[in-house]
Amino acid sequence: MRKSSRSLGRRLMRRNNSLAMRFADVFSRFPVIAGLLGTAIALSMAVLSFTALWQGRAQALQNAHQASANLVATLSADIARNIESSDLSLRTIVSGVETPAVMTLPLDLRKMVLFDGATAVSYVGGAFVMDAQGHIVIDRDDGRSVYPDLSDRDYFKVHVQRPDVGLYISAPYRSRLRGGTYSLALSRRINAPDGSFAGVAVIAINLEYFNILLSRVSVDPLGSVFIVQQDGLMLARKPALPSGAASSVASSPTFKAMPSQPSGSYISVSPLDGVRRIYTFTRVPNTELIAAVAPAEADVLSSWKDRSLVIGGLTLMFGGGFIIISWLLAISLRSRAIAQEKLQRLAGTDSLTGLSNRRALDRKLDEEWRRARRAELPLSALFVDVDHFKLYNDTYGHAMGDDALVAVAECIQNSAKRPGDIVARYGGEEFVVILPGASAEGAVAFAEHLRAEVEALDMPNSAAPKGILTVSIGCATSVPRQNDDALKLLNNADAALYRAKRAGRNRAEHADSATQA
Ligand code: GH3
Ligand code: MG
Ligand code: MG
Repeated sequence: MRKSSRSLGRRLMRRNNSLAMRFADVFSRFPVIAGLLGTAIALSMAVLSFTALWQGRAQALQNAHQASANLVATLSADIARNIESSDLSLRTIVSGVETPAVMTLPLDLRKMVLFDGATAVSYVGGAFVMDAQGHIVIDRDDGRSVYPDLSDRDYFKVHVQRPDVGLYISAPYRSRLRGGTYSLALSRRINAPDGSFAGVAVIAINLEYFNILLSRVSVDPLGSVFIVQQDGLMLARKPALPSGAASSVASSPTFKAMPSQPSGSYISVSPLDGVRRIYTFTRVPNTELIAAVAPAEADVLSSWKDRSLVIGGLTLMFGGGFIIISWLLAISLRSRAIAQEKLQRLAGTDSLTGLSNRRALDRKLDEEWRRARRAELPLSALFVDVDHFKLYNDTYGHAMGDDALVAVAECIQNSAKRPGDIVARYGGEEFVVILPGASAEGAVAFAEHLRAEVEALDMPNSAAPKGILTVSIGCATSVPRQNDDALKLLNNADAALYRAKRAGRNRAEHADSATQA
């Protein structure tokens, strides 16, 4: 069991190795693939990373929106609850005033009945009853003998004009009773038994209440939170507006979208400071008040931005590094491939003549042999041997001998010009020429031409019978078949060469004696 699993592991390893080798082979043959692949991987990682960062930005904005929505809902609920509580107190006052029995009570008792505990909370600046002419007739605080005329106030006039207005929330005003304190009045109409206008019950709320409410909210450095009226009148803001409370933002583009909807959120650029803010607002139920919060986009995104700079920077750095390394690898693979190719060429080249050596001949002959077998075409081989070369060496020296070999090699090379022709130095002063597609006649004709070319070089070999350097050539031709091999072809050519030598040299012989030159 263990043995079989081990052999399976070995087989898998071998397969992995061969896969790795195949990859290495592809990379070394096409080094640019390594560079492109590295670049593609780095770019994909960068795209993924930047997509994630962009999603992080959307998430940060979404979180800010959620926090803002929660905040305005809380503010709105707080204001609504206090207004409702003050309205309850107003209803108590109105029903008390409209009840004759209450109005006949002694003043102290009457005030106790009319002004309940809710009117005593800190933000309620005053609570009083006005008669039909606008004079204060009952005051919670009762602190003065003469009251200013308040019949011009909107919270009074509205009830004269519109009996059905119910709870009215006034525009902010500076109180004439409390030394100019910014206030907001809640008022309800008092009816006479016959339904005619008998006066107004009023509870004045210090605008400071809104500021105290907002002071509990924390705001980012560039953000703001505010309570604004439907008509754009700012009741409270944190941080405070330079122009102070009760200034109007009705014409500001940042406000324009608020009055038309019960709640919402949008991004707008403040014309005052040019800061982009995310405005989230909600209407306080049953009132004309809007609670809004507007964190600056830069504040909301600041931690995301810091994180993104670090992650983005690292992504670019590592991605860039990865790309550079990929291309360095590609370059080094390329130069290695070039060096290897050069080495391979050198290993197959004869250093003296620059022709293929025997090793390269074996390889190339094998290829041509198989090609000829597939195509069922003849293949001719020529053995070329320099005549009396020993004598040449003896006469002119080895160095001149080398030069003569180079000259003969050049002559052979220049004669064999067809694309598939192979010219190789077989060893010593012997050369082999392979002519793919050449018939016996063609081979003999080529051999004769070559012999004549060498003769025409007219290189003196004074010790030889002819006095010049000549070659003898043995040819053989074969249409390769399944059971033949290339070695036999060479042997036949060699045998033909032997015959050429025996027949007097400086001649070409074909193995097939019928086609003798
Ligand atoms: P044959 O006509 O019968 O071929 O006579 P040969 O003298 O050419 O033949 P042999 O085989 O007796 O001598 C070959 C000579 O070629 C011997 C050797 O010194 C010489 N030779 C072989 N290789 C080289 C070489 O690289 N340079 C030089 N200069 N001579 C070489
Ligand atoms: Mg020889
Ligand atoms: Mg020779």
